[in-house]
Amino acid sequence: MTRQREVLPPRYEPGKFEKEVYDASERAGYFTTPDAAEGDRYCIVIPPPNVTGALHMGHALNNVIQDVLIRYHKMRGAASLWIPGTDHAGIATQNVVERELMETEGKTREDLGREAFVERIWKWKEKHGGRIIEQLKRLGCACDWTRTRFTLDEGLSRAVREVFLRLYERGLIYRGEKLINWCPRCETALAHDEAKHRKIPGKFWDIKYPVKDEEDTFIVVSTTRPETMLGDTAIAVNENDERYRHLIGKTAVLPLLGRELPIIHDEHADPEKGTGAVKITPAHDPDDFEVGERHNLPRINILSPDGTLNENAGPYSGLDRFHARERILKDLETQELVAGERDHEDYEVPHCYRCQSIVEPYLSKQWFVKMASLLEPAIEAVKSRQVRFIPERYAQNYLNWTEARIDWCISRQIWWGHRIPIWYCDDCPPDEDGSEYAFASADAPKSCPKCSGTNIRQEEDVLDTWFSSALWPFSTMNWPEEHDLLKNYYPTNVLVTARDIIGFWVARMVVMGLEFMKEKPFDHVYIHGTILDEKGDIMSKSRGNGIDPIEMIDLYGADAVRFSLMILSTEGQDLKLAPTKFELGRNFTNKLWNAARFVLMNLASTSETAESEVIYEPEDKWIMHALSKTVATYHDEIKNYRINAAAMALRNFTWDRFCDWYLEIVKRRFAGPDDISKYTAYRVCGYVLDILLRLLSPFMPFVTEGLWRQLKELSDGAPGMAESPALMTARIPDANEIPTDRGAYAAIEETIEVIRLIRAVRGDYNRQISEKLGAREPLPEALATSDDPAQIERLKNNEALIKLMAKVKKVTIEAGISEPKQAAAKVSGPLSVFVPLEGLIDFEAERKRLQNEKTKLEKNLQGRRNKLRNRDFLTKAKPEIIEREKGLVAEMEKEFAKIEKSLANIGE
Ligand SMILES: [Zn+2]
Ligand SMILES: [Zn+2]
Repeated sequence: MTRQREVLPPRYEPGKFEKEVYDASERAGYFTTPDAAEGDRYCIVIPPPNVTGALHMGHALNNVIQDVLIRYHKMRGAASLWIPGTDHAGIATQNVVERELMETEGKTREDLGREAFVERIWKWKEKHGGRIIEQLKRLGCACDWTRTRFTLDEGLSRAVREVFLRLYERGLIYRGEKLINWCPRCETALAHDEAKHRKIPGKFWDIKYPVKDEEDTFIVVSTTRPETMLGDTAIAVNENDERYRHLIGKTAVLPLLGRELPIIHDEHADPEKGTGAVKITPAHDPDDFEVGERHNLPRINILSPDGTLNENAGPYSGLDRFHARERILKDLETQELVAGERDHEDYEVPHCYRCQSIVEPYLSKQWFVKMASLLEPAIEAVKSRQVRFIPERYAQNYLNWTEARIDWCISRQIWWGHRIPIWYCDDCPPDEDGSEYAFASADAPKSCPKCSGTNIRQEEDVLDTWFSSALWPFSTMNWPEEHDLLKNYYPTNVLVTARDIIGFWVARMVVMGLEFMKEKPFDHVYIHGTILDEKGDIMSKSRGNGIDPIEMIDLYGADAVRFSLMILSTEGQDLKLAPTKFELGRNFTNKLWNAARFVLMNLASTSETAESEVIYEPEDKWIMHALSKTVATYHDEIKNYRINAAAMALRNFTWDRFCDWYLEIVKRRFAGPDDISKYTAYRVCGYVLDILLRLLSPFMPFVTEGLWRQLKELSDGAPGMAESPALMTARIPDANEIPTDRGAYAAIEETIEVIRLIRAVRGDYNRQISEKLGAREPLPEALATSDDPAQIERLKNNEALIKLMAKVKKVTIEAGISEPKQAAAKVSGPLSVFVPLEGLIDFEAERKRLQNEKTKLEKNLQGRRNKLRNRDFLTKAKPEIIEREKGLVAEMEKEFAKIEKSLANIGE
């Protein structure tokens, strides 16, 4: 009597299971890694998501990659540490809380005042800031949560002040009045790369400026932003320009305001461009700023911080910048001073990366980091490949950014962030250039170090959020303290991130790491692709085309989401995603579950089979050899960050080799009378499943953990299982630890090929053969031959297997067999397989049927091909229609080839 033990439910239900497995692992301390560790170490610091954030697909991809790497290295025996945390995200978070304050209480942040408003944000953070962490847990991330950091926590704030102070003392931080990018919506300065250039509809207006004391003489300039004319302080022309040479040194009159503008010569005026004359507005255009420097022109700022025009704008003051533009154009037209107007086809303007408002070049006093000397070693580190980008091509993005050597504007006029550790003294006299006396201090000072006066006040501005993010790899390890973490885990192994923050963040981390740790922050920078929607558009909230990872986890399970993302994302390539793509992971999870359940149920009945000798049969040696090969590939792919290839290797082995072949082959041994054979099959199944679950564990930690628990229970202390309390702490073996047998492997591979070919013939004529024989009946006969005599011998040894798996009554394997009449033939390399079909199918009728089908298909195909060549159709039809048409044609072409092949088989 066989004891049927119900070891697992028939269907895998991730919902019930995941939380239990995750919580148990966390409670058991499997995610924590000690400060000091012996032996191999592996470390990643998480790209901290914004504390306001909700997990999106980009995060999911980014974090699953890191989790796979962390779990993999843990299971390879390294002390493997993943430091998590969140970013305070200055502007973004302030915007969220400001909006909420307005919606709920109708108040602005000014109504509350700085202290109360910042207090409000902290409260918001306590309440909502943990959401993304919880979501990362749902995804299965094995972060060391005991080390969770926040860019505004006390330790990190100390690191920020320390870095600021050291740079300041070395003269690398300065305050200067410069033209910076200003967001009138956020009312703050932005760094040069926080303003994203985007194309919008634009126009050129040609405006006539009268020349003073010359009747009816005008000088015409073109502009895309007419309102900035109110800040003009000169007109520039080129001295080589015949049209204007005589006007140099004369004076033009600014329309509307009547300001006198010198007409100067400057190279910036290009005779080939526009009218050849340019208005110079030093306070509102970076090029003009330079011209102004060369000619000592006054800078007239016409904007208030909120984007309205200030008192310098005369009658237009108080108007919003875009409203002012309309009014100015109208007034100019009334005075007949508009000479022309035309569309600007390539009008690109900078937009705030946080709120998408159009950014203005704006003259203001800001704090800057002098970057040139700091960037040199960071450039060198990547050029010499001490820091290596994967894929390699992204090194160029990094170099483009760093080699521009632009000073970093670090002050932000917001309240949420690290307040700049600079104090001004009101008792000390100002410097020669009129600026107040300032000093830096890491701790809050009580008095002025110069005059000992107590009339000191801290700088109002806060630091750019990226200033603290730049220190992340070492500030999270308790720098400036000399901590064991730093000693043991810095530099980290890899940074996993997206390409859009290579400059913002990756480069600045390298700069700061090299400067303050004297060592790069990471060996590798792995840049993964961007997740797009089905049509190839970027997913965004405003478009509403995002896919919520948590919804997908609820629907398909975390393992399915993880595995799908890993298998679909090829190194560095963008990934088009639709919710249905997660079925791929779900189907694989189910396949694994069913196979494992089958094995476990059989193992549960091993107690019925007396412990016996283990004698491997050819298929046992074959599956272990195939496993060893898979393990070798797996290690190699992961080492080279081809994570999808590793996932693919596992999927193929599991689905094809293990489930569809090995388990099918050994089924009969489970049911058979030979105890040794049965026992051996149990052992091999258990062994392969054990290794397979280990290999899969980094990719799909939940289902594998559950299956492994059962396996462990049933394997009573099998080697390598007893000593590990859980799968995630078990070891992934080397390929050479798994028994191999090259000869047995090759022999079964060939046998499988023969079986496949016979099955393919049956597939081709399945309808007719089934009608004649019945669907489950075996074929009467098959013949196989090979050009290689040794192969024939090997195949003969596996004749029984061929009969069993290909479902054939009689198999003849001999040298020199030629194709019998009325048979189907299949060839693969030196192998030929023939299946006599006489009596099984009516050749004449079949030929007719196929020919009819061929003619019909040919006509249809011709019509569609013509359509796809039709220009009219191609220009007018929607892209998705064209795509569908192309897909249809490809399908039909395949079908056509199949018919032709069948016809050839039975002889036309
Ligand atoms: Zn903004
Ligand atoms: Zn003082």
